[in-house]
Amino acid sequence: MTKLVKNLVTGGAGFLGSHLIDRLMEAGEEVICLDNFFTGRKENIIQWIHNPRFELIRHDVTKPIQLEVDKIWHLACPASPVSYQYNPIKTSKTNFLGTYNMLGLARRVKARFLLASTSEIYGNPEVHPQPETYKGAVNTIGLRSCYDEGKRIAETLTYDYYRMHGIDIRIARIFNTYGPRMDQSDGRVISNFVVQGLKNNPITIYGDGSQTRSFCYVDDLIKGLIKLMGCNHTGPINLGNTEEFTIKQLAEMIRSKIDGNIKLVNKSLPEEDPLQRQPIISLAKKELDWEPLISIDDGLDRTINYFKSQLMI
Ligand code: NAD
Ligand code: UDP
Repeated sequence: MTKLVKNLVTGGAGFLGSHLIDRLMEAGEEVICLDNFFTGRKENIIQWIHNPRFELIRHDVTKPIQLEVDKIWHLACPASPVSYQYNPIKTSKTNFLGTYNMLGLARRVKARFLLASTSEIYGNPEVHPQPETYKGAVNTIGLRSCYDEGKRIAETLTYDYYRMHGIDIRIARIFNTYGPRMDQSDGRVISNFVVQGLKNNPITIYGDGSQTRSFCYVDDLIKGLIKLMGCNHTGPINLGNTEEFTIKQLAEMIRSKIDGNIKLVNKSLPEEDPLQRQPIISLAKKELDWEPLISIDDGLDRTINYFKSQLMI
């Protein structure tokens, strides 16, 4: 009998984690979803609860845990600025202690370990677009530092476990990703704009909306994560869509899809909000034969349909 691959997905009840679990379960693998439900929701994984290949553990990664697994997908960490700034000390602990504990587990059971890092490690980038070789411009004491510096130390720890203990590691630098199962109240830009539009409320552009982001649809991103886990490259790899938009353009795109009469209003720009962000993905293309395939037009339509069903519109 062939042994089933046993996956541990930390943060598996969250937005990205739950989509990843769908793909792993559909591939016939075993999955342990570990989550403290800070920003994750049971609805995201409810479809697997009665499947014998699936297990759900309520646990906080800042505490050690003993499990037998082959692959660790370490995604546990709140990702929206509102959520990670709610308790910044906890966010730093999740990034340091959580990653330390999961690397310790990987070492004990000889599991392959993938870290969900972020484009935020580039800070407010002075190099544009951002290649993996760019070292970043990050404030150590700003409101976003718990997350940005947290992910930087998580990468450092991961790499040192590779160098010192030979752990089999992968590091994904994920750029802004969107799609169904984003939490409608976690404050991220696409969920905010779509939900505001569908409720016929004004769309809130922070600052003058000239700051840019590059948005990847969730299905594309998950394909990239799975290819990364399966490849042989240990260094960090950018995963994201290279199409860059200003936040004002994004607001206009979403408004035109929902109702051209919705108001756009300007609110103050949050402290330390990065001015620009766009990945260079030539490394992912070369090492993973991966690039996003879903256009912003298609991805927004799918996301709007999801929120319509959530809001029963
Ligand atoms: P999310 O907030 O939807 O999911 C995070 C999950 O981790 C949630 O289920 C939450 O309950 C869980 N969690 C948080 N702290 C925990 C702890 N201490 N112990 C156990 N579980 C904990 O966010 P997401 O968008 O799914 O992001 C997943 C990962 O991908 C995060 O590590 C994030 O930094 C990274 N990432 C996401 C994006 C994006 O655009 N979505 C971009 C860059 C990086
Ligand atoms: N943003 C905005 N209105 C909102 C929410 C976010 O203009 O209602 C802006 C935010 O200031 C930032 C961009 O959209 O410039 C992306 O914000 P998000 O929180 O989604 O992600 P991040 O800043 O971490 O990239």
